[in-house]
Amino acid sequence: MEKEKIKALYFDKIAEINDYNKAYYDQDNPVISDYKYDRLKIEILNLEKKYKFLKSKLSPAKTVGYKVSGKFNKIKHKIPMLSLSNAFSENDIVDFLKKVRNFLKLNNDYKIDIIAEPKVDGISASLHYVNGQLKLGLSRGDGITGEDITLNLKTIRNIPARLRSSKFPDNIEIRGEVYISKKDFKNISNKFANPRNAAGGSLRQKDPFETKKIPLQFIAYGLGFVKEKSFKTQSEYLEQLKKWGFKVSQHLNVFTNIKDIMNNYIELENKRSEIEYDVDGIVYKINNLNFQKRLGYISNSPRWAIAHKFSSTKGISKILSIEIQVGRTGALTPVAKLQPVNVGGVIISNATLHNEDEIRRRDVREGDVVTIQRAGDVIPQIISVDISKRSPGSKKFIFPNKCPSCHLKVVKEFNSNTKKKDAITRCPDPNYSCQAILKEKLKHFVSKDALNIEGLGKKVIDNFWNKELIKYTYDIFNLDLNILKKFDGWGEKSIINLKNSINKSKKISLDRFIFSLGIRHIGQENAKVLAKYFQSVKKFFEICKKLNTDNKNYLNEFYSIDGIGISQIDYLKKFFLNKQNLIVVSNLINLLDIENYKLLVKKTPLSGKLIIFTGAFENNSRSELKVIAENLGAKILSNISKKTDFLVVGSQKPTTRKINEAKNLNVKILTEKDWNKIMNK
Ligand code: AMP
Repeated sequence: MEKEKIKALYFDKIAEINDYNKAYYDQDNPVISDYKYDRLKIEILNLEKKYKFLKSKLSPAKTVGYKVSGKFNKIKHKIPMLSLSNAFSENDIVDFLKKVRNFLKLNNDYKIDIIAEPKVDGISASLHYVNGQLKLGLSRGDGITGEDITLNLKTIRNIPARLRSSKFPDNIEIRGEVYISKKDFKNISNKFANPRNAAGGSLRQKDPFETKKIPLQFIAYGLGFVKEKSFKTQSEYLEQLKKWGFKVSQHLNVFTNIKDIMNNYIELENKRSEIEYDVDGIVYKINNLNFQKRLGYISNSPRWAIAHKFSSTKGISKILSIEIQVGRTGALTPVAKLQPVNVGGVIISNATLHNEDEIRRRDVREGDVVTIQRAGDVIPQIISVDISKRSPGSKKFIFPNKCPSCHLKVVKEFNSNTKKKDAITRCPDPNYSCQAILKEKLKHFVSKDALNIEGLGKKVIDNFWNKELIKYTYDIFNLDLNILKKFDGWGEKSIINLKNSINKSKKISLDRFIFSLGIRHIGQENAKVLAKYFQSVKKFFEICKKLNTDNKNYLNEFYSIDGIGISQIDYLKKFFLNKQNLIVVSNLINLLDIENYKLLVKKTPLSGKLIIFTGAFENNSRSELKVIAENLGAKILSNISKKTDFLVVGSQKPTTRKINEAKNLNVKILTEKDWNKIMNK
């Protein structure tokens, strides 16, 4: 055949497949069978193979369905997709309800409606509908940014392409879980460890036609953003979802007291195996959406919901050895290395033994036959030892008195809160030079909530560490990755990918940066508090460096930050006293692009104001008032200084000392009434 004729034939086929793609992906109206489609695709690919001069951007070799392929596009969630805090006992739930009641300042007679929904163990996804039409589907990603997996989500049969019934908001984001039913999983169980893995793997397939072959389903339960809603409670919303064509769980209940909540928990746990999908607990949500809005979020999870995990699956295994692991903060954790055992679809070969006291109390020994349990993502635990199977020669485990890595004498710190010695044994690491700790710090630095460097997981860090390629966090950015070509498993492509993700990670928010330093007691929440207060890394570093000087003003400045206490300041001081840490931080500041903490752009009467609250208030809880003030751009302090703008005094039990201090320093005092006036402006 002549070249021109071949080209014409080829482009005809390309145009044809493109029409099919358009019909399938854009119009949700497939016009040919999968079989015919696949045949056409193969014909095109064969032509390309045979005639090297044939090239098209629209070739199925280069496109995923109707869109150009490549990595999934990353898109920022309009409202973060966070995780849920966990509860394991009745006490945890009681505690949760108490906190909600206190935050909303509801008295004990007020009946709070709690909706209980099964926690579907799948992969969460978010669906954006504009004028009723599905426009965008995102994965959770890191919670802040998700991946555009619209095409894959469109292959799921119970995700409506268009919302049914005529009444729907113009713009709404519906969230839910993608899962595979237990029945469907049986047919593909040879390929995946469990239904959740199968759902996750197929949802992130590059080729939606591959996704389509896996029997994924979707169950809706959540609300992202919405423009003008007609529902006031979660239950009303779920009813609405059904009308729009979504599948919603059948096991929903609304309760107002802990007894009913616990009965439902027991009932559902017993029914667990009969439910068509995997359920790993129950999610309790405050039913009233206005309450949810007021309660808002704490670092990684909403204040208005909690996941009550089911007691887990159990298994029996043998302890091969007990190893001591040294964590990022120097904690020595005994870990039982187990004969690998399958517990609820996951192969378990490690279980935590917590600490020295725990080993002694339960007399766990190497060689023991033990029952282990795992619940969700929680580290597997040993729940009992079968003493009858213990060999006569077995010896008590002796906890080391030296750090297994740097050999320094270990310590148990005195806890000034409990006035007792800590249960945790630690490597004191006075010079910040214990190798095990340094390595763990690297792992923390690259982890999801810190720099989030894709492709640089724990195993890769171990590998780089063993090859002495990296020691301090800044080494990651100075490493010549081409050196990896020498090592097994590193191809051109994986090196480029790693380079890209390292480069991408350089742009980082101040709170993530502070968190990434791995300072003890400075977790995500405290890192946010510090970022909010200092706003720029320059200011943060400058003041931290001065914490150890004789000038007590800097120390006092820290004490005045609401949420930062003695332990945090102690560890900040220790951290910044160390010369190597100073080098690490200043190198990182030079290498990274650390964004200033963004305060509210909109100007409000409270923008930039330094405020202290004291006492209890009539209408709102103090916690809620603080959150409202922060959302309006104020900074909340805990100690008064000349710089303080307002002391807001509640009518019940305000601290007289604070009022007197405010008077002495000429700080403006506001009553609850004055405050409400400002709020109503
Ligand atoms: P976790 O990832 O363990 O923190 O749990 C939070 C996740 O539970 C959410 O991101 C959802 O993917 C999932 N989930 C399952 N069922 C529900 C439900 N009914 N309501 C809220 N989240 C749910």
